Amino acid sequence: MERTLVLIKPDGVQRGLVGEIIKRFENTGLKIIGMKMVYADEDKASKHYADDEEWLKSVGEKTLRSAEKKGIKIERTAIEQGRWIREMLMSYLTMSPLVALALEGNEAVSKVRMITGPTNPQEALPGTIRGDFSVDSYMLGDSLERPIQNLIHASESPKEAERELKIWFNDKELHFFKRVDEDLIYRRGSKK
Ligand code: GDP
Ligand code: MG
Repeated sequence: MERTLVLIKPDGVQRGLVGEIIKRFENTGLKIIGMKMVYADEDKASKHYADDEEWLKSVGEKTLRSAEKKGIKIERTAIEQGRWIREMLMSYLTMSPLVALALEGNEAVSKVRMITGPTNPQEALPGTIRGDFSVDSYMLGDSLERPIQNLIHASESPKEAERELKIWFNDKELHFFKRVDEDLIYRRGSKK
């Protein structure tokens, strides 16, 4: 069983999409084991988007790859691009309250990413949260010098999920109970 972190970012809360977003995760059978509304401060935001070279590089590389596909040249290196994005993310995450969710279930990390869609809403298919509820793009975000408003943060790997869950939830805020459909989905098949 895997756990993952979802943040409904301030744009999702301000747009009144909290219920719609939670519904999509919950409907799959993923279990909400923690949930809260938080007004994140700088400290929390900078722990969440850690000043870690590996992460900065991976964020920057995603953008450079997408720009290259469109024939756009970005003069910054991947790390420089990542650092620039991180700065902007601090004010995005702290601009108004967000909703944090801890979700649990079979391959929860990749399932949640699939429901969420890719970082750039312009590349996100209809049916995903970012595809259905945002027209934002790398180009628009960059030209307005703000992060892409893509409604959700979702951990990208089980390792990232473990680190991030600790930032937003303590042990007492994660709950243990059984969803009624668990007996169906996690039941061993019986031979007749
Ligand atoms: P995620 O895991 O899909 O959220 O994407 P990343 O971890 O790569 O990036 C973190 C967040 O930074 C994204 O969700 C966007 O809000 C923002 N972001 C990422 N890349 C860019 C970019 O190239 N330009 C702008 N303006 N924002 C970006
Ligand atoms: Mg990420």
